[in-house]
Amino acid sequence: MGWEASVTDYRNDARRELARAKDELASADVERLKYAALELRMAMESLTYDRALAYKAEFPPAEYETWQPRKVMAILLEIDPNADKDSSLAFGIEPSLGVTPEVMEALGTEIVLNMATIKRHYDALGSYLHVPTIKQRKAGAKIDAAKFRARCDEIAAYLTEVLSSPVWNTTMGNFATHDCMKCGHPIRKRMPHGQDVVDAKCFECGATYKVTDVGEGKVHFEPDQVEVKCANPECKTSVFPWRSEIVPNSGWKCEVCGGENDIKLMIQHRPADPVEAEKPGGDGE
Ligand SMILES: [Zn+2]
Ligand SMILES: [Zn+2]
Repeated sequence: MGWEASVTDYRNDARRELARAKDELASADVERLKYAALELRMAMESLTYDRALAYKAEFPPAEYETWQPRKVMAILLEIDPNADKDSSLAFGIEPSLGVTPEVMEALGTEIVLNMATIKRHYDALGSYLHVPTIKQRKAGAKIDAAKFRARCDEIAAYLTEVLSSPVWNTTMGNFATHDCMKCGHPIRKRMPHGQDVVDAKCFECGATYKVTDVGEGKVHFEPDQVEVKCANPECKTSVFPWRSEIVPNSGWKCEVCGGENDIKLMIQHRPADPVEAEKPGGDGE
């Protein structure tokens, strides 16, 4: 109906893959289950990319086009915590400004592919698509055809529901954008309704932020930095690294005393220095 077919029409690909899977499942031949499984896996991949394209503006630039479905879904979840949840859309006319309409017209529920489903189904199907290892064979491993078929039927039913959803790829909501203060790459994050603070992460360098809704469509990106002090008891000069930088085997050279501080996963106790303890004043801690 005037809709132009496109090379990235993954949703239609998914429909075709699902249809072919159903053809295979219609057969009583156990040997055809693996072909059904392959089509189902591809349908799940198509839907993941379909979702990614809907979030194109929110995605980190360029390289995502080469990513595998699992990675794409992980990124989708990071940008939008609701990406794996079903959402309902409804519209209504406000009787007066700000008053909730009495009649809301439902547009339908969008049932989207969620990460849990990918993990569970995608991986489970994968195990059916490989020849058992020699060790598995020796242990007498055999494919349970009934279980395999039940799994395929479950996925086919789920994908049918997803693909017949009247509303899809809605990316409603406010997106917060800010250039990373550490590496300069843009960070985008959806601000979910009714949530004032969300965590955001730079895909490029891993720096984390607290994003706060400060009202009137404005957000505040606060760098998730922590204060750590030089471990030289004579110095104790503070530095403010990103939380993501506090990992074992990292460290820093103190600019004040010139000493090296290594971050290691350990508890090291040093008894109090009697000279230091007698010193008046200190840093007030
Ligand atoms: Zn960054
Ligand atoms: Zn120092």
